[in-house]
Amino acid sequence: MAESFSFYNSLTRSVDEFVPRIPGKVSMYTCGPTVYHYAHIGNIRTYIMQDVLVKALMYAGYDVKRVMNITDVGHLSSDADTGEDKMLAGAKREHKSVMEIAKFYTDAFFNDFCAVGNKMPDVIEPATACIPEFINMIEVLLDKGYAYQAGGNIYFDTSKLDDYYVFSSAIEKEQLEVGVRDDVEEDVNKKNKTDFVLWFTKSKFEDQALKWDSPWGVGYPGWHIECSCIAMKHLGKQMDIHCGGVDNMFPHHTNEIAQSESFLGHRWCGYWFHSNHLNDRAGKMSKSKGAVLTVSVLKEKGYDPLVYRFFCIQSHYRKPLEFSFEVLDNAAATFGKLIKRISELGEDGAVDDSVKKDYEARFREALSGDLNTSMAITVLYDALKADTNDATKLAIIESFDKVLSLDLLGHAKSLKEGASDIDPELLKYINEQIGKRAEAKKAKDFATADEIRNDLLSRGVEIKDTREGVKWQLI
Ligand SMILES: [Zn+2]
Repeated sequence: MAESFSFYNSLTRSVDEFVPRIPGKVSMYTCGPTVYHYAHIGNIRTYIMQDVLVKALMYAGYDVKRVMNITDVGHLSSDADTGEDKMLAGAKREHKSVMEIAKFYTDAFFNDFCAVGNKMPDVIEPATACIPEFINMIEVLLDKGYAYQAGGNIYFDTSKLDDYYVFSSAIEKEQLEVGVRDDVEEDVNKKNKTDFVLWFTKSKFEDQALKWDSPWGVGYPGWHIECSCIAMKHLGKQMDIHCGGVDNMFPHHTNEIAQSESFLGHRWCGYWFHSNHLNDRAGKMSKSKGAVLTVSVLKEKGYDPLVYRFFCIQSHYRKPLEFSFEVLDNAAATFGKLIKRISELGEDGAVDDSVKKDYEARFREALSGDLNTSMAITVLYDALKADTNDATKLAIIESFDKVLSLDLLGHAKSLKEGASDIDPELLKYINEQIGKRAEAKKAKDFATADEIRNDLLSRGVEIKDTREGVKWQLI
């Protein structure tokens, strides 16, 4: 039986209790990458927070089916259907065919995606594999009067909808309308400023790389149609949760809803999960700023990708997060300390199930309260301090790591194994000195005890008195 779970739903603009259509089952769609360039760490933040959502739902007892698209059709460089073909620009830049570029960046994306501990989606569908589905949806939209042909392209007619701006308040609507009007390149074929292209036959780009036959001539699909069709292909005519970054809300997700619900004639998706930006000091991270900071680059600089995950999940997904190497260094230091503490735990008896269950309940409660990941991490620290044996603590950590995916026990094991590589002579010496120090303390000879501690410290060994006895570690 799945437990109750709540998160912020952009559609209702409130934290809603999640009620899936089929009890215990979740169908979820995620907007995937556009594979003409690397995904920067800001994009990866979005996927980390979605992964935590998936795993938190699984932890609460749900079965989750997650679908992701790959935008390998050359859509345009701005959401407003203007600009150059991004895929083609990537291909030209690197003297490769468009499909070679797509394959290269798809692989690079999933390398980084997995390096930060994310679970692969259950279905990954490239847009180029779904052209018949796109054409079918566009035909239905034309038949129903929601779309029109102009200047060789097919457009969605946003004036046919009572409420096009589904995610926006009245004030935001006005701002968006102004924003759309101010768009530099005006498409004269559009009846309304917010109309968007479903199918292009008159490409603005003479050397448009990928084209397909359609009832309206040779051309290619607009971007938004991809997600609607791919979601429906794998999840049916309704689904539970649609995920993306806040910058997808308008126009991308707004347009997805417009065309999907016009096509279906009913509500498509009841819960929309959006995570906020990663900023650097200069503002929002984006690809257009030149050198792209990727997870692979972090790795080359010596950072564990899971430290980046730890950095992300320390903050709430709905808040913008500011990135700098300084804050990443802080996260790395905190993570290192956490791993050290875990590595000091030993298998010392039976797991106390009732204690474990209590902590699991607190952990679930944090996550089911709008994915409060920093609270979930606090529960982890509380468990480390708990009045219980090490075996129970280890069992709790293993359980929490199903969601956190920080490989906590693996890191702790490596640290321990690193310590066991120590010179056997030194190890013998450490153990002898710890024994002598214990005797000195027993005899209340604290000066000698301190001397021994300092002697070990000078040899790079730190000893600590804990409730479980004396522990040591290399520093
Ligand atoms: Zn999408």
